Amino acid sequence: MSGIEQRLAAPSDSRGRVVSIFVGAVLLPSVALSVLSFNAVPKHAENLKISLHRQAEKMLKYVEQDLETATRARALEAARVVGPERLLEGRPKVIQAALREAGMEELKFDSLRLEAWSPMKAEKGWNEPGRGDVDALREALAGLDMPLVGEDEDSVPLKAHGGKKLGMVRFRFSCDYVHRQLVREYFESEFVNPDDAWVVRVTEPGGGLLYETAPTADDRFEVKRVMSVPSFEGVHLLLRYRDRSIEDEVRRMALTKTALIGFIDLMLLAGLFLVYANVRRELHLSRLKSDFVANVSHELKTPLALIRLFAETLELRRVPSEEKAQQYYRVINKESQRLTQLINNILDFSRIEAGRKEYRFRPTDVGAVVGEVVESYRFPIEQQGFQLEVSIAEDLPEIVVDPEALSQALLNLVNNAIKYSGDEKYLGLDVRRDDDRVVVSVTDRGVGIPKAEQHKIFEKFYRVEDTLIHTTKGSGLGLALVQHIMDAHGGSVELASAPGEGSTFRLLVPLQPPGHGAGA
Ligand code: ADP
Repeated sequence: MSGIEQRLAAPSDSRGRVVSIFVGAVLLPSVALSVLSFNAVPKHAENLKISLHRQAEKMLKYVEQDLETATRARALEAARVVGPERLLEGRPKVIQAALREAGMEELKFDSLRLEAWSPMKAEKGWNEPGRGDVDALREALAGLDMPLVGEDEDSVPLKAHGGKKLGMVRFRFSCDYVHRQLVREYFESEFVNPDDAWVVRVTEPGGGLLYETAPTADDRFEVKRVMSVPSFEGVHLLLRYRDRSIEDEVRRMALTKTALIGFIDLMLLAGLFLVYANVRRELHLSRLKSDFVANVSHELKTPLALIRLFAETLELRRVPSEEKAQQYYRVINKESQRLTQLINNILDFSRIEAGRKEYRFRPTDVGAVVGEVVESYRFPIEQQGFQLEVSIAEDLPEIVVDPEALSQALLNLVNNAIKYSGDEKYLGLDVRRDDDRVVVSVTDRGVGIPKAEQHKIFEKFYRVEDTLIHTTKGSGLGLALVQHIMDAHGGSVELASAPGEGSTFRLLVPLQPPGHGAGA
């Protein structure tokens, strides 16, 4: 027996191992990982912030340099138009006139002159039209060996096309031209803004707005530069991402990461809970099974011992009177019936578990089935002092059931009513039609069943842990069988019970089981 119990308990041990492995190999590392990930979130956020900031700074620096380049290109173009001689003379009026003549009167300089001009005459083709100014400027800047920016003037080298340096154009655009026109022209025609991802704002030294590539919802800019080239002295460049702020982006990233880690943790917890619930159920079932083995062995032993005792007494003719002998026969009969019932239950249960239980449905007079059960048990029932009340309706229709299964279900209910009754020994049986079903009720005034236990008692092996359980033997299979039999008939079992007041079990049997047409 202990061997059987050990075998029955074995699965729960291995479940225990699974849980320990799960906790040790999955849960703990995952918790450690999620703690580390949680702690790493602020660091990631900081890194993202730094990188977005750097990106913005780079972009703004590029804008500044590009703006300066565009400015020098304009100055260089003006210098070419004016020509080296007039530049060398440096008379503003003459220069203005030359510019006007070339249709470039909108270019306004505070100063424009040529310095360190090569003694050689300007070479042919130095101001050939068709060459892009920016290209020329790039070329010019490539071979630069003088500082570009002076204190008050910006400068750009002037070269002939052979690459020979002609001199250095010193210039400074007028503040008004830069503020009103140059900035706007640059941003409207030269500024490259991929996907319009950036917003640049330009303000004058006093803070007044000069230009803005797009309106901003708030005045928060990520980076700022103060321009230093003379023409733009004190001009501020401000830049931000068009539709996001670094702060929002960082917050969103931190939130997403935290939510993701939280979600993974939740999933883990749910998984752990499922494993725990599963193991608990298995442990419970395993305990019920071992209780079952103990109970059944006891249930088999007791009637067998009684049967043997009385059979031996009868065999040895040690019976004082014929009346006593009759009593012994009855005991032997009753105990063997009990054994048969128990063995039937166990056999049926194992058939059900193996999916081999078959029902033989046929048109049956349920009243007669109930009557037979009552009659075969009337004597022992009344002998135990039970008041038996049977009411079988007259107008019962013939219904399609498995009569053996139905009487087994009924017998289980009757046995329970007897087993779980204390001093108040009452057994009521009632069969009646209720619409399209027949209802068989078994009522006792026994110990009753607490509400919380009422749905559990239909589980296999389950026995309520109180009152009569230690003195009343049982397998915990009876009601599971009743439930199964009712399910097979397309019916159900109802229970009304209160502790100390007794119980009524009602078998609701439909007139036709599912899948059986009329006349089946
Ligand atoms: P058992 O073999 O233990 O009687 P059952 O499946 O028939 O197994 O019943 C399950 C449990 O339900 C019983 O152990 C008992 O606690 C409770 N029970 C069943 N019928 C009654 C009843 N008529 N009155 C009180 N308790 C009952």
